[in-house]
This record gives sequence, C-alpha cells and structure tokens, in this order.
Amino acid sequence: PARPATAPRLRPDDVFIAVKTTRKNHGPRLGLLLRTWISRARRQTFIFTDGDDPELQLQEGSHVVNTNCSAVHTRQALCCKMSVEYDKFIESGRKWFCHVDDDNYVNPEGLLQLLATFSPSQDVYLGRPSLDHPIEATERVQGGGTVTTVKFWFATGGAGFCLSRGLALKMSPWASLGSFMSTAERVRLPDDCTVGYIVEGLLGARLLHSSLFHSHLESLQRLPPDTLLQQVTLSYGGPENPHNVVNVAGGFSLQQDPTRLTPTSLPGLSPSTAFFTRTRT
Ligand code: UDP
Ligand code: MN
Repeated sequence: PARPATAPRLRPDDVFIAVKTTRKNHGPRLGLLLRTWISRARRQTFIFTDGDDPELQLQEGSHVVNTNCSAVHTRQALCCKMSVEYDKFIESGRKWFCHVDDDNYVNPEGLLQLLATFSPSQDVYLGRPSLDHPIEATERVQGGGTVTTVKFWFATGGAGFCLSRGLALKMSPWASLGSFMSTAERVRLPDDCTVGYIVEGLLGARLLHSSLFHSHLESLQRLPPDTLLQQVTLSYGGPENPHNVVNVAGGFSLQQDPTRLTPTSLPGLSPSTAFFTRTRT
C-alpha cells in the first residue's frame, strides 16, 4: 500500500521501537546499544527488561520498562515481554511498532524511510521470514478440544519487525492485556511466531517480506559494504560466530570492535550517514 500524497511526513516520534533485553544483558549488550544507535533514537526507543537497574533507570527514565516477566528464556517469559511491549505501544498512540532484540543494531533513518512508504492505518507487518516456507502449527481451540493445522509466515524476532498501528489495533483481541500469552499457548509457539499466527492465521493479513532486516543467523560478512546504509537492522553473534561480522574496510580491528559495525572514523562517512556510530570513550 502506497502512502497517499496528502499524508503528513513520518516523524521519528511516530515510531515506537521496543528493545527486548534481560537483566544480565544490561552490561554486556545494552551498554553497546545505548552508546551507538539508541543515542541517536532516544525518543523512539523503549527498553523492556525483567529486573531493576537503578543506574539504567536514572539514565533512560520512563523509556525503561521493567516488565516483571521472569528472567528465563522460555516461551512464557518471552511472550510475557512481547505482551507488555504491545500494550505500551498501544498506550503510546504512536503510528508504528517495531520490535528488536538487544543484539540488533538499528538504522533509525533507514527504518523511518522504509516505514514512510506505507500508511500506518493499513495492515502492515514487515520483517524477514525466518524460514523459506510458511510454518505449520497445530492450533488447539479452547473448550471444543478440536485440533486444526494453520500455515502462516512470521518475521523472525531476532532480525526485528514492524507493525502498523492499524494492524496492531486489529490484533487486540488476541494480543492485549495478557491475551497474547494465551494466544501463544494455543499454538505453543514462541513470541515472534505468535505474532505471525495472529496476523496471518487469525486476521488473514500478510507478512511483507523485507531483506533489509538481518539476524545473526545470516552470514552478514557477505553483505555488500555499499548497501550497508540502506539496511534497517543488523545483528551480531558472539566471538564464536565470525560469519555475521559485517565487513567494513578500515576503522577498528575485529579485536577492538568484535560486534563490528561502521565506526565513526570510517573515511567517507559523515556522522549523519554513519548510523552505527561507535563512541569510544
Ligand atoms: N532474552 C530474554 N530473556 C532471557 C534470555 C534472552 O528476554 O532469559 C532476550 C535477549 O535479551 C534477546 C533475545 O531474548 O533480546 C534473544 O536472546 P539471545 O540473543 O541471547 O538468543 P538467540 O535466540 O538470539 O540465540
Ligand atoms: Mn540473538
């Protein structure tokens, strides 16, 4: 769906970026994000965690949300966080909801440019499918005891995805005020699959497949350097996975910059275009 010519320009504040994190990642992961892309997208970004961190709270104020979800990597805990992200977005009144993990780098300008080509009142679900085919799930409908199969595409949470406000509002019966968790139980699938299930399986809308979102499951070293500034999200794995380290000439060595993205000192990139700026203080 193309944006009507009369629509107002999309402003950074129209976007709600939810970053999912967990208490033990505040040091090793979140600090890196706060010093890079989040520092350039403060007003858009909201951090969803599971434990108190007075220092973070002091720094980020109301943009840190302690979900009080449990700090474990289970379907229930992750769906609990997604459900709080969803409710906070609805409450915010903003036009676009985007979810990312705490090992994602976001290009706020690229994201805005991409979203500006759509209308937030239409059904838009944008992201990278994690499989090359739709997932098939067993759906248990409460009460009846009937089991049916549903097939749908979903955007992988590890690469980030976005939903328009229009579509998010339609999802409300299955997503708001904790109902997201019971919806996830119906198909016994993780949070990102459950979003796909609601959008495609229950609402009949479609995932728009985008190659501008990237998870650390990809071989990011193969991304052509001249396309970097158009990418909307990037991601990194641990030192055990050198294949998803983005290939940039110059700048810092892999040892200095293990979660390597474009450093500010990269020749030829002005600070406004070098979106993955690494402040090395
Ligand atoms: N995460 C979480 N609770 C946990 C473990 C992880 O909320 O107990 C979050 C983490 O902060 C990240 C996402 O889940 O945003 C994915 O975690 P991770 O990158 O460690 O694992 P992956 O699934 O990508 O291998
Ligand atoms: Mn990850």
